[in-house]
Amino acid sequence: MIQLYNTLTRRKEPFNPLEKGKVKMYVCGPTVYDFFHIGNARSFINADFVHRYFRYLGLEVKFIMNLTDVDDKIIKKSNEEGAGFSAIAKKYSDAFHEDIRKLKILPATIYPAATAHMADIIAMIEKLVEKGFAYNVEGNVFYDISKFTGYGKLSGKNTEELEAGSRVEVNSEKKNPLDFSLWKKAKEGEPYWESPWGKGRPGWHIECSAMSCKHLGKTFDIHAGGSDLIFPHHENEIAQSEAANGKPFANYWLHFGFLNIDSEKMSKSLGNFFTTRDILQKFQAETLRFFYAQTHYASPLNFTAEALEAADSGRLKIDNLFFRLEELAKDALPDDSLFREEYARFEEAMNDDINTPKALAVVFDAVKDINRHLAESNTATAYLASAKKFIQHTAGDVLAVLGEAKKEAGLESKLIELLIQLRLEARKEKNFALSDKIRDRLKEIGVILEDGKDKTSYKIV
Ligand code: AMP
Ligand code: ZN
Repeated sequence: MIQLYNTLTRRKEPFNPLEKGKVKMYVCGPTVYDFFHIGNARSFINADFVHRYFRYLGLEVKFIMNLTDVDDKIIKKSNEEGAGFSAIAKKYSDAFHEDIRKLKILPATIYPAATAHMADIIAMIEKLVEKGFAYNVEGNVFYDISKFTGYGKLSGKNTEELEAGSRVEVNSEKKNPLDFSLWKKAKEGEPYWESPWGKGRPGWHIECSAMSCKHLGKTFDIHAGGSDLIFPHHENEIAQSEAANGKPFANYWLHFGFLNIDSEKMSKSLGNFFTTRDILQKFQAETLRFFYAQTHYASPLNFTAEALEAADSGRLKIDNLFFRLEELAKDALPDDSLFREEYARFEEAMNDDINTPKALAVVFDAVKDINRHLAESNTATAYLASAKKFIQHTAGDVLAVLGEAKKEAGLESKLIELLIQLRLEARKEKNFALSDKIRDRLKEIGVILEDGKDKTSYKIV
């Protein structure tokens, strides 16, 4: 049974979806005004670990990630680039799709865009006004937080604490400093939509409430996003959705830890970021995923180039073994009675609040074991096929850290085999100095030769 840490209840809970065998999950997506950075990528990849693990378990996942395609930042960028706001949104939505594909992130079932849901957004605001949860001040509509008794339940703070701890927008039109915009009156030159309150555009929070309801219903299973979204974004989403629908909103709230750089959150506004595109020029997507999988999704993680390089060499150990197994196992059929314990341990780790570092450790234990077996001669082909399947299912399908550098990895084993052959020839010619040198030099770089009765095998340590 999967246990998930639920921000709303502040404890780990058994995950029981509303409908058996199905999961409805909503993750806050990007504002499409620029290429996304590897901090954003960490949240998207962590959501993907959850998504992929549900799929591995055979659950049917309806996964929704929204795109915020109208917003102050997009309007600012469109003025800077001299392009229309929708051209900017289109350019960076396309870039977003391209980048997440490269990161091996499973596609969402739907990527709803705010501008395609104006009628739903306006209808939800109308309902809030009607029910007395919102007020209109000359074309600007605000949510009245004093009307919602549960305000603060996600962040676990009362309104005084929230007010003191946040930079709330000063606006004399608001009744309470924590009240927030549902509808913003259009300023000169800004994009707008017609509404019962005049020309304007929606606030950010209402988009997610309206689009999650449209695609997942009033109550759904999981809502996730980076932990910077707990307050105010997710707190406000709860206030809007529960007030409008009169039903509980999401049952489980998952929040992803930050990617930091020099102990500060990587962010666009601080300028301390690398775009995903920068990083993918130097590293494989699988390496970035491996780097993220080494830390639990909720913990902060510090980014350094050295740590990414270390992740790269760690990950290659799995790749090398996998491609060796592919060559050795060929078309052999796996024996499903093998690797049961390894699968059980892997699942136990992932069931424990998606503990990817523990799951990776299980994969590495198996890699060590399999390498040991390979060093023994005459390993059964059913074992090789089962080993390959285990690596494929865990490191491949769930974590997606298995690389595609087949040619390169295959080359490595071919080179080792070549050196083994040359050593054998040296021995035949009684050139023991050379044959010992080959064995010792290989050992120095972590390749241990083991002479069997009729063949020499090797293991990588
Ligand atoms: P944004 O485009 O800024 O709305 O962010 C998109 C997603 O990335 C949100 O879920 C944010 O919480 C998340 N995010 C932003 N910065 C970071 C970071 N440094 N580490 C992890 N997640 C982040
Ligand atoms: Zn959202």
